Amino acid sequence: MTTAKFAYANNTNFFLASEALIAQPFAIVGVPFDGAVTNRPGARFGPQEIRRASLMLCDGIHPHFEVSPLGMVGDAGDMALPNATSLAEVRRCIEAQAAPLFAKHHCIFLGGDHSVTLPLLRAAKARFGPLALVHFDAHCDTWTDHFGEPSGHGTWTYEAIQEGLVSPRHTVQIGLRSSGVRAAREYVADQGGLIFTARQMRGLDGSHLDALIAQVRERLGDRPVYLTLDIDCLDPAFAPGTGTPEPGGMSSSQLLTWLEALATLQCVAMDCVEVAPAYDHAELTSHAAATMVWTYLSGQVAKRMATG
Ligand code: MN
Ligand code: MN
Repeated sequence: MTTAKFAYANNTNFFLASEALIAQPFAIVGVPFDGAVTNRPGARFGPQEIRRASLMLCDGIHPHFEVSPLGMVGDAGDMALPNATSLAEVRRCIEAQAAPLFAKHHCIFLGGDHSVTLPLLRAAKARFGPLALVHFDAHCDTWTDHFGEPSGHGTWTYEAIQEGLVSPRHTVQIGLRSSGVRAAREYVADQGGLIFTARQMRGLDGSHLDALIAQVRERLGDRPVYLTLDIDCLDPAFAPGTGTPEPGGMSSSQLLTWLEALATLQCVAMDCVEVAPAYDHAELTSHAAATMVWTYLSGQVAKRMATG
């Protein structure tokens, strides 16, 4: 784990506000790897930009949860990753560094491309047992191969189910809309899980999402939940800075509704992936990502404070 922060970061950044990580229940962890993308690289620069965008959240009380995570969250910096082209080797390093963090903290990982979620799930499963999965994405990520390679950023959900890391019946995908063969697009549903496509959510926001949210709550119950947020679940109007944008996606408002409502689940970890700042405009995407992470974090902090 590298402890050095980026040169221009300062300790007023929200996610960098506490240096005393060891005492904090929540940890921010960067995973700057984008060697498994299909289309445009650049998500390795996501963590530093999401941190930068978190600056204006540092003095804030969350308006819905009425808490500030300040004092509850530390920043572990970025994982030290090899300059290897071997995805398996990179993943081995990610899993090894995640394991001790899970033992001490409720972790929130900043990617990186979506391939990093698989080793994070491996470490999380070792700690918490088989997981329920809440997966926001434009893409199903259940392809059985990565253009002839066995694994990439579009195969990890398939692999996680095959490996038994997540329970397929307790896997929920939200925001899907990309092209793909039916067998991949519907894989999670075929395995007994739930899918809510972007098309199904057109025109639905606020209380109009209640019926969908209720299905997820009932399905997942009190199982340990890993929440993974591929920022491309948002429409490119809200998050253009990503490698594989898909028009016709969720609004920031819809995603916030989901995240606020799902705070009641027994979440054990979160990641936010696929922020690629080189394609961003006006830092829209990094600000969206920082706000979504802050909302998740505030929801978990509020629950922790309520239960002592
Ligand atoms: Mn994805
Ligand atoms: Mn995606």
